[in-house]
This record gives sequence, structure tokens and C-alpha cells, in this order.
Amino acid sequence: MKYLRYLFIGIGFLLLGSFLVPSLTHANEGQSYEVYSSVLNVRSEPASDGEIIGVLSKGNKVMAFQEKHGWVQTYYGGNVAWVAKHHLIPIANTSQSSSTNTQSVTTTDSITVTANSVRLRSGPGTNYNVIGSSSAGDTYNIVETNSDWHQIKLSNGQAGWIAAWLTNTSSNSEQTSEPNNTSNNTNTTNTPKVKSGSLEGYNIVLDPGHGGKDSGAIALNGVYEKDLVSDTAVKVADQLRNAGATVIVTRNGDYFVSLDKRADISNSYQTDAFVSLHYDSYPAIGVSGVTTYFGNGSDRGLAQNIQSSLASTVSLDNRGIMQRNFSVLRGTTAPSVLIELGFISNPNDLATVQTAAYQNQVATAITDGLVDYFHR
Ligand SMILES: [Zn+2]
Repeated sequence: MKYLRYLFIGIGFLLLGSFLVPSLTHANEGQSYEVYSSVLNVRSEPASDGEIIGVLSKGNKVMAFQEKHGWVQTYYGGNVAWVAKHHLIPIANTSQSSSTNTQSVTTTDSITVTANSVRLRSGPGTNYNVIGSSSAGDTYNIVETNSDWHQIKLSNGQAGWIAAWLTNTSSNSEQTSEPNNTSNNTNTTNTPKVKSGSLEGYNIVLDPGHGGKDSGAIALNGVYEKDLVSDTAVKVADQLRNAGATVIVTRNGDYFVSLDKRADISNSYQTDAFVSLHYDSYPAIGVSGVTTYFGNGSDRGLAQNIQSSLASTVSLDNRGIMQRNFSVLRGTTAPSVLIELGFISNPNDLATVQTAAYQNQVATAITDGLVDYFHR
């Protein structure tokens, strides 16, 4: 862990295919685009004489953070980067397209908003006008649910719509109020609401520690922490996605990403949880086990859920949760934890953590811990 503080150098962040963010209503209103030119230069400035810092190819996906004079700003290799907008086609918003072929369900449930600055709209989709804003903890009664949007009654009596993936429902009884008429409707894929046991609609930022020039800790056998973390992160991301989460990974390869950049990435989205992955090291080889760190006191619950899940899933010692003022936890506005998944300075831990079986157990445990946290 002590290596983390040396991480401030660094860059690295590829916005490619795995980086899908559907219709989030954050301040940057990130639109996803797909490159349709066979080759697209990535430049340091929004101008055709800007320095070329990379190349994208047909089918690559980019997330726009702002637009200027026909140029779209994204990130490439950890740097602010610009691409010409006329080589891009917008990617259709999944919530809009799915809402057109699903039926409405009438419920009497209430919802609690799980993110800040959530936009309230005049209809069930991000293409409708913004009519208000809502904050984490606000509760509303649901008037009806249309696909993954809830219609709610605002305090002024007006009706508004809110994205279901930014809310928690307080009851699961909506299934019983589903229309019974099956004679002319065999569609069973409707109401993709947040369900118990699922991470559907949640945005998880997964942060594989270290990378590139920063190897992190070096194991007894010479293995680098950064590589173990990368392998583990792939498995964790897979399981989170299987559970329905949208997963944003701060590092998709072996390159530098500064701690500030990691926090910036998380803060650019309606992130529901930020999970940083590390392996530990200590001069005394007898020290072993798994620890989950949290920064803010309000993140203690998230740390507890994940650590409990890890403790009941993996064979390594349970070192419990600890509060530490780590930079990456301090910089993230979302609930955030940093998990030390075993000591690579300990022979037994090292032998275990290098196995795919262990890393898969970790992936399951983190996913289950997040489910417990969001559905607690
Ligand atoms: Zn580390």
C-alpha cells in the first residue's frame, strides 16, 4: 500500500470498446460515439494542426467530455485528447431504445435517489426536457414504471421521470401488480428495474492499482503487484458485468494513471461505487491477509460489506476494515474503498493470490459485497 503514494506520476487511460456508459445524466452529459473512418487521428488540441498523440480505428468507441468547434474531447493514454466529430457517429442511447418496446407497469412503490444532481425529465428517456433536479437520499412515490424509467410525483404536484438506475426501490412488490393479460403479450423482458441480487443500473468504477513504470510492490518471486492487479481486475469486471453493472475501468493495460486521474475518471460519471484493487507488501514476511480500506466515515458500510464478503469467500486471513486517508479515496466523490487482496511478501498469500481460482473468488466476493451494499 505504501507504494500508492508514489503513484502521482503517470498517465494512461484508453477509452475504447470496454468503456461503455449508457445515457448517464452527469454534468458532462457524456455522449458515446463510434469511429466510422478507417483511421482517425487523435490530437492534443481541437485543431487539424494539433499534435497527433494517437490513432483510433473504425469501430472504436469514444466518450465525449466536451465539444468545441466540431471537435470532441475525450481521453487517450491518460491525456486530454481531441478527435474530429465528423468521423464519429453517436451511439444510440440504450434506455431510449428499450423503452419503446416494453410495457408499463403500475406500482405503488417508492424510490430513493442514489446519486446527486440527477435530472428529472418530462418523459421516460434522456431525450426529454429537464424539468428539475434531485439529490441522493430524496424519496418519491412511483406513479408508473416504463422500462428503466420511473414516473414520480414531485413536491409541487407535477409529474416527472427519473432514470431507474439512479434510484433504489424500497419494495420488490411491483411484480405482483404487473398486468395479467398474457393473451397478446408474451414479452417477458420488461421492467429491467434494480432487483435484489443484481447490479443492474449501477455504475462501478474499478481501479486496478499502479501500472506502467510503477510496478507497485514486488513479490518474493519477482512478480509485480501491477500485473497481479490487472489479472484480478479483468475477472472482477467480468463478474460485475455479469451481475448487470456498468463497469468503468481506470486502467485497461500496463500504463501509468495518476491518482488524480483515477479520481477524475470516477467523478466524471454517476459512479455508485469506486473500488481500487491492490496487493499488499510488508517487510516482515509473516504478515498476511486481506484488508479493505475506506477514507470517509460514510464509506465504512461499503468497506464492511465487501470485507465481510471477502472474509467468507477466500481462505486468506481477514484483517478487517481500516480507515486511511488515501489520496484516491479522498479524491473520489462516490463511495470508495481500496482493497488489499493479500500480501505478496508472504509466501502462502503469494502462492494463493497468483491462482485464477483465488482471483475468481475475489471477483465473486466483491460483486456479492456490492450487491449487499446496494440492497442493504
Ligand atoms: Zn498497491
